[in-house]
Amino acid sequence: MTDRAVPLRGQRAIATAGILQAVRGMNDVLPDEAPLWQRFEDTTRAVFAQYGYRNIRVPVVEPTALFARGIGEFTDVVEKEMYTFEDKLNGESLTLRPEATAGIVRATIQHNLTYDRPQRVWTAGPMFRHERPQKGRYRQFHQFDVEALGFPGPDVDAEQIVMLARLWRALGLTDIVLQINSIGDRDHRVAHRNALVAHFERNAAVLDDDARRRLHANPLRILDSKNPAMQEMIEAAPKLVDFLDGEALAHFEGMQAQLTDAGLAFEINPRLVRGLDYYNRTVFEWVATGGGLGAQGTVAGGGRYDDLFETLGGKRNFACGFAIGVERMILLLQAAGVAVDPAPLAYVVHAGEAAAPLARRVGEALRDRGHAVVVHAGGGSFKSQMKRADASGARFALIIGDDEAATNTVAVKPLRTAGDQVAVPAADVPARLAALAQ
Ligand code: ATP
Ligand code: MG
Repeated sequence: MTDRAVPLRGQRAIATAGILQAVRGMNDVLPDEAPLWQRFEDTTRAVFAQYGYRNIRVPVVEPTALFARGIGEFTDVVEKEMYTFEDKLNGESLTLRPEATAGIVRATIQHNLTYDRPQRVWTAGPMFRHERPQKGRYRQFHQFDVEALGFPGPDVDAEQIVMLARLWRALGLTDIVLQINSIGDRDHRVAHRNALVAHFERNAAVLDDDARRRLHANPLRILDSKNPAMQEMIEAAPKLVDFLDGEALAHFEGMQAQLTDAGLAFEINPRLVRGLDYYNRTVFEWVATGGGLGAQGTVAGGGRYDDLFETLGGKRNFACGFAIGVERMILLLQAAGVAVDPAPLAYVVHAGEAAAPLARRVGEALRDRGHAVVVHAGGGSFKSQMKRADASGARFALIIGDDEAATNTVAVKPLRTAGDQVAVPAADVPARLAALAQ
């Protein structure tokens, strides 16, 4: 037995064989990729703030009942995609959130957030769904989620869509198209639902197992099926929009007028019903036409969910929101060739006992002026340090040896452009770099 195999007191033996891997479908975002994520996140937060949306943060774990009631029991998410577990201490059934809306509505009700005024809020973070991992589809994925709470619309519905169009522009993305639909109010859906069940019953032979199970529980969801064998039958099904009347129709037309007024092109997709149960009236999706996302092309989706407050035990309220799939956005940004260069301004190379304190002082002086500077750590020859400087992407190497330390100077060497190394008094380095960096 080697020393390593002996467990330390108070610790369990750690298996030494085999390298531990991340859970399937749950990804690491490594430092080379993170700058693009940060570009997306910073841009998104800035655009949301421009429209008056404020940040809200809710737990990643919620009572299972919140999602079962909120999202709907006969949805893919609740039926087969949730990470549900028992709290070992009290036996409570808990679930890793598969989406953010239910948690935000729970928080809104719990803290009486909309009692005196409506709220525009956004949140961001990881969501969890047990799906088959593939490009653009993971088990832990990230969303930016927006909710306008207490607004009857259709003004905020249109505003959210316009806000997303602004976000795509800000990110430099062009090939994302807008699909909208209205799924009306409860009465319209009941009338439509009856017609739909009759249609599905006439076509019972074509229905798959999922569809058959949902036929009476939730026939609307059958329209959302991706089973190719049912597409023709789905295509011929009665359309909900033909059952809308009065206010719901005016709401839908009002939203369309505002989109047109904002110069946005859109397609009305009567088959668009969305994967979660809580929607009413407005539903929309932004779908990427390029970027190799295939069936995972929907980068953002949302709509109105005026009934969810009551479903979760609150007072009747209005609400409209959407979520953006961050991984899919990152894939689009990569496909569009968007590159982010987070390189530091300077990399400080130093050798010798006298050089180290000067290197640290020069680094701090530049950071005082807001620059990013990497001061070499861990020793090594000038040659190996210069390799690191180059690999860092820094624009300048600041070189400090015994001679420079003795004269309190720094040798400034441009790394990205031609130009000689020049000796600069240490105190002048910030000004000199500012001038050279123009
Ligand atoms: P899909 O039809 O692709 O399964 P959805 O209707 O289940 O999507 P929503 O619940 O509306 O998705 O979530 C909003 C967005 O979150 C989606 O448009 C997508 O961009 C992203 N998203 C959803 N599920 C995943 C996942 N498993 N992996 C990565 N992104 C996802
Ligand atoms: Mg899904």
